[in-house]
Amino acid sequence: MQENVTPHSFNVTKKERNVMNNHRSFLIWFTGLSGSGKSTIANAVETALFEKGIHTYTLDGDNVRKGLNNNLTFSPEDRTENIRRIAEVARLMADAGLVVLAAFVSPYRKDRGNIRQIVGKENFVEVFINTPLEECERRDVKGLYAKARAGEIENFTGISAPYEKPIAANIEIDTTKVTVSEAVAIIIKHIDSTLVL
Ligand code: ADP
Repeated sequence: MQENVTPHSFNVTKKERNVMNNHRSFLIWFTGLSGSGKSTIANAVETALFEKGIHTYTLDGDNVRKGLNNNLTFSPEDRTENIRRIAEVARLMADAGLVVLAAFVSPYRKDRGNIRQIVGKENFVEVFINTPLEECERRDVKGLYAKARAGEIENFTGISAPYEKPIAANIEIDTTKVTVSEAVAIIIKHIDSTLVL
């Protein structure tokens, strides 16, 4: 079927949408263990960007796993497919002119490499929320670590499934060392020049 699909060339380009919005659009990807602070920081970064008049959208486990990806499990194959679909959606949204923030555990290096390929490396900012496992487990925001330790959840990242740390993330944040607002300041400082047309 793929060979009969010919891309149509549309008149309005990403560049023109960026010019109209007065900023570039790209993907900021937050990776890290459950409870590391990805959603909290992504949310605070989005608020800061929104207040600056930047057009944004946040994708996270809640709005994606419950809808678009509600047929996927946490097996390695389905995790890969989960990330691939999110990357494709992020690519479309960035093409539409939005700065997309995505907060997903995304434990496999290969999958994160795939995101970079899908959106293009100039459109990909990888933020590693490197909070130690012990702290994530102490927080246990959703009670999932206790369930995973009790054997009630299979394939739980950090407990019974691996987390492959990024080797060269654009930004690395340990939330035991910086506050949410400090993390936001670090990220905004990093992307300020990327936003400029
Ligand atoms: P994730 O999205 O990575 O699963 P969440 O953002 O849902 O993580 O949860 C992180 C928890 O850690 C929140 O309850 C948040 O208030 C808390 N927390 C404490 N200190 C920090 C910090 N410096 N940065 C981010 N989160 C923090």
